[in-house]
Amino acid sequence: MTEAVGLDEPETVATPPAADGREMAAEVEAEVALPIAATTPVDLPTRLIPELPRIIAIANQKGGVGKTTTTVNLGACLADIGYRVLVVDLDPQGNASTGLGINIRGLQASMYDVILSDVPIEDCVEASSVRNLFVAPASLDLAGAEIELVPAFSRELRLKNALHEVRDDYDYVLIDCPPSLGLLTINAMAAATEVLVPIQCEYYALEGLGQLLRNVSLVQKNLNPTLEVRTIVLVMYDARTKLSDQVASEVRQHFAEKVCRIMIPRTVRLSEAPSFGQPIIAFDPTSRGAIAYRELAKEVSGGPA
Ligand code: ATP
Ligand code: MG
Repeated sequence: MTEAVGLDEPETVATPPAADGREMAAEVEAEVALPIAATTPVDLPTRLIPELPRIIAIANQKGGVGKTTTTVNLGACLADIGYRVLVVDLDPQGNASTGLGINIRGLQASMYDVILSDVPIEDCVEASSVRNLFVAPASLDLAGAEIELVPAFSRELRLKNALHEVRDDYDYVLIDCPPSLGLLTINAMAAATEVLVPIQCEYYALEGLGQLLRNVSLVQKNLNPTLEVRTIVLVMYDARTKLSDQVASEVRQHFAEKVCRIMIPRTVRLSEAPSFGQPIIAFDPTSRGAIAYRELAKEVSGGPA
């Protein structure tokens, strides 16, 4: 059964023009030569949970699709059920860092120093307000890293090498990628054991997915042979719009068991939490967003540590 948590929030977004499901399917199929799996999510096989530690790159080159919200809140919920979690902020915007209460302007060291100057990652790790949850913050100068990395030695493997040192300290490392497929995202994919893609339940949500998957296979061929997109999370689901259901069912048809059963609802509380520097389970623990991300953490991890 697919689930969305609660449906009672007042309408906050206009309903875009209805997507033609078949058109969207054809588009993705053309872009992503993938077998079409069973159309019903009801009989999804049980999710296989990989061994710990898991290093998960949260990637989608489209902007504003819920990468950071998912990184922060999945990370907090995994920590809450007993896993040791490191959030690596690889986006110069620093939203994952500020969303976890870190002031990115006053940092002694950040992911910029780790990637560009070989500073050990533990030197920049900060504790968050959630027990077991740690952050390797980004700072604005990371924006220059894409260019500064170009001539650097083993430029794609900077993060992988940095994480090697702390591999045994964490059960989950969640890497929040920037909205591009540049060298920072490549570093994330080269370091990761798997990729998680958040997909908005909105029109055009699948656009660009082919390019993302092609990049994952390029990284797999050249840098990280075991990398795969293991998890797809449907986010900003609005049960009152047909479009949300159409997109969700399209995505499930294509990606079958990779798609999490739980869908993250569109809720105002989730968008308010970052400005208080808190994950949703601290900001509003009983809200629909908090419940959904808790369920997602259980589904992704298989349950408490
Ligand atoms: P970027 O590509 O810029 O890094 P992103 O993919 O990380 O963006 P987010 O920053 O997580 O996306 O989300 C984009 C905006 O949507 C933010 O303002 C966030 O608060 C809001 N948002 C994310 N998820 C939800 C949700 N489920 N319900 C309501 N608002 C949401
Ligand atoms: Mg982001």
